Amino acid sequence: MALSVHSGSFDDEYEKHSKIKQDYGVLDSITPEYRIPVLAINKGKTGKVKLNIKLSSKAKKDKNLKIIFEASEKEKIEINNKEEFIVSTSNIKDIENLSIKAINYIKNSELDNIYITAKLYGKTIGKLKYYCAEPVTKEVKLVFVKSDSKGYREIDETSLLNYLNTKSLNQLFVKIEFLKTEKIDVTGFNETQKNKLFSGSTNERFYVLARHYNNLESNFLEKENDTFFIINFEYKRKNKEGEDEEVGGIHRTGESGGVLFVYKDDYDEATAHELGHWIGLEHPKNDVGHRKIPEYKSQNNFMDYEIKRKSWFWHQLINKN
Ligand SMILES: [Zn+2]
Repeated sequence: MALSVHSGSFDDEYEKHSKIKQDYGVLDSITPEYRIPVLAINKGKTGKVKLNIKLSSKAKKDKNLKIIFEASEKEKIEINNKEEFIVSTSNIKDIENLSIKAINYIKNSELDNIYITAKLYGKTIGKLKYYCAEPVTKEVKLVFVKSDSKGYREIDETSLLNYLNTKSLNQLFVKIEFLKTEKIDVTGFNETQKNKLFSGSTNERFYVLARHYNNLESNFLEKENDTFFIINFEYKRKNKEGEDEEVGGIHRTGESGGVLFVYKDDYDEATAHELGHWIGLEHPKNDVGHRKIPEYKSQNNFMDYEIKRKSWFWHQLINKN
């Protein structure tokens, strides 16, 4: 007799499906294969989870059937609008659509997760790992770059910020604030600088802007702020197979400072990806450390190259130790 998560949807229009091993805990008491799915929900938001439940024939016939859903810490969540949700024969259908609302942060300092446990006849038949942390605020300085006659790129800063804070980085409990936006005109660059900007290596493209900006602003590369150049320019390069490859942006992992190029229409997704590098996340291929994501299993993850990127993995959480 076991309960498992079939699918889920969240207020913030994202889905957090745990797909890879690092994301799961193992609950041996059910079956060796049972893995505990993860829900990470922002305070005040609701996650809806579809559950699969396999009941024994004895349980199905039991008029006094009672499955109790409860959290390991009370006052943190509501399950179907209740502190404790009880399923009996009369409302057994409700079990298929469990609604979990984040009422409070779990902890501000230790950032532990809690569990939602389902019990039948006093025995655990399923568990969900649940997490809700106070967001860490990250300040980003946008610098629009005019590099040629196309002028500055027109980006709606309000909608970009909204995307970052409701559809992408919020899932990692990171809150982005735009410090200020500036404009720099580099059309007067000399030949060497132009070569670096338009045809140099990835690093050269970044550093030629950074050095120029550094002379204008002495406190460039502050650790707590990200200086993010937005340039109205496409960056194409050859990949290992010799094919043309477009680059959405450049960002030095764990450092403050990056460049956003013109790349299809996904400047919001690309910005979420680049800011992912800023907070220390890497691509599947060059992953290092405990936040790595395995190759070929990371579809739709913001650090992958999929265009419809919409999720992160549990172990990428920036709030998590
Ligand atoms: Zn990247």
